[in-house]
Amino acid sequence: MITYPFTYKRAKSVAEAETLLKATSESKLLAGGQTLIAAMKMRLANPPELIDISGIKELNYIRVGGGQVAIGAATIHYDVATSAEVAKAIPALAHLAGVIGDPAVRHKGTIGGSVANNDPAADYPAAVLALGATIKTNKRAIKADDFFTGMFSTALEDGEIITEIAFPIPEKAAYKKFANPASRYAMAGVFVAKFKDGIRVAATGAAPCVFRVPEMEAALAKNFTPDAVANIAVDASNMNSDLHGSAEYRANLVTVMAKRAVAEAA
Ligand SMILES: Cc1cc2nc3c(=O)[nH]c(=O)nc-3n(C[C@H](O)[C@H](O)[C@H](O)COP(=O)(O)OP(=O)(O)OC[C@H]3O[C@@H](n4cnc5c(N)ncnc54)[C@H](O)[C@@H]3O)c2cc1C
Repeated sequence: MITYPFTYKRAKSVAEAETLLKATSESKLLAGGQTLIAAMKMRLANPPELIDISGIKELNYIRVGGGQVAIGAATIHYDVATSAEVAKAIPALAHLAGVIGDPAVRHKGTIGGSVANNDPAADYPAAVLALGATIKTNKRAIKADDFFTGMFSTALEDGEIITEIAFPIPEKAAYKKFANPASRYAMAGVFVAKFKDGIRVAATGAAPCVFRVPEMEAALAKNFTPDAVANIAVDASNMNSDLHGSAEYRANLVTVMAKRAVAEAA
């Protein structure tokens, strides 16, 4: 049997994680392990060293104030889903965290791991983009519009550790997803956010990477009702197509989920 040995280290602080990352090339941060451990089991990843950041206290918090909800990168989905403060400030965000995967995934998976991974079918990227969140790292702050660069790809550089995601609090917001019945990942999920100065709409699950829908944003700015988006279709030629659903099916789901999200938010 072929074995793939690796060392495991548990960091106690962001500074320690940073030092450990620098020390071994191709070492990987481990948060909830819900993606990374599965990838290693399937031999899709073979890092020589894992640096576990899940126990770092300074990465585990939810703070509401100053017009934003700030969540530490190692905060698990369950804590966001059940936070009374998040439910009060941005109920759509608590709802989104509560429909990720299943209870086991929600008790291990973290917001930082989800955003860093940028799975095309992940839920958090839709909230990050639609709410115009800021992704804070050990080196800088990155605007959501600059962060998601493609399928499983982000603006993160080598050695960069997400420390916090800061979400501006909107006037209204809602997230609706059509989940794959087996994995619970989004076949299509749409997050709609209404701010004093405009509307932002982001779709996940349907295309190789989360994306904004400017036509819907413009229509909703004039008329914030489900009817305003009912006849707006995204281009099927940019959507994913696989055994779970065709590109045309996913494009249609984006419109349907957008209508439902606006109905809920309104
Ligand atoms: C059965 C199943 C169902 C799921 N269903 C859904 C779903 O419905 N919706 C959904 O959105 N997700 C779903 N997920 C994914 C899950 O929610 C996790 O969020 C996701 O796997 C990554 O988070 P993690 O904390 O487990 O990260 P890990 O697996 O530990 O890490 C993932 C990647 O992110 C990097 N990383 C982790 N933390 C940081 C950080 N702070 N800074 C920089 N890089 C970092 C790691 O090095 C690694 O490359 C599902 C997973 C499983 C196994």
